[in-house]
Amino acid sequence: MGNILKEITNSATALAKGFSITFKTMLRPTVTENYPHQPPTFEDRYRGLHVLRRDENGLEKCVACFLCAAACPSNCIYIEAAENTAAHRISAAERYAKVYNIDYNRCIFCGYCVEACPCDAITHGHGFEISAYDTNALIYRKEQLLEPLPASAKK
Ligand code: SF4
Ligand code: SF4
Repeated sequence: MGNILKEITNSATALAKGFSITFKTMLRPTVTENYPHQPPTFEDRYRGLHVLRRDENGLEKCVACFLCAAACPSNCIYIEAAENTAAHRISAAERYAKVYNIDYNRCIFCGYCVEACPCDAITHGHGFEISAYDTNALIYRKEQLLEPLPASAKK
């Protein structure tokens, strides 16, 4: 008889414990994202699609030093450098990246390229919708990665 009573008490305690967690969770705010109907929220340091940055004059910050490509463990950055001229100035330095591709078939979003860049020319943005049926579509060109011209440089 004593054993049965002990078992009933233990079961009731376990049930009460379980339900207390259920009720506590029911009262917490909902954290489910309503994607795709609403844009998801990201932490500031989320590593999404890369962004090639411009300076305050609208010039490209990338100086084609290849350090990001050298740091990339997936070998997915392809750069072709070219010289700036007085008539055709793309970056504030001697050279600029004429071609800058990132192959998102291979990128593991490790952030090494961002850390390696001495000019803060490449950062991670919050873009993430990159699924594609064609792997060629996952090779992003400079034109897709470059941030838009600032309003002050559009004149
Ligand atoms: S995030 Fe990593 S894998 Fe992707 S391009 Fe940069 S260094 Fe390469
Ligand atoms: S993004 Fe930065 S590290 Fe990469 S080539 Fe341009 S300046 Fe050099």
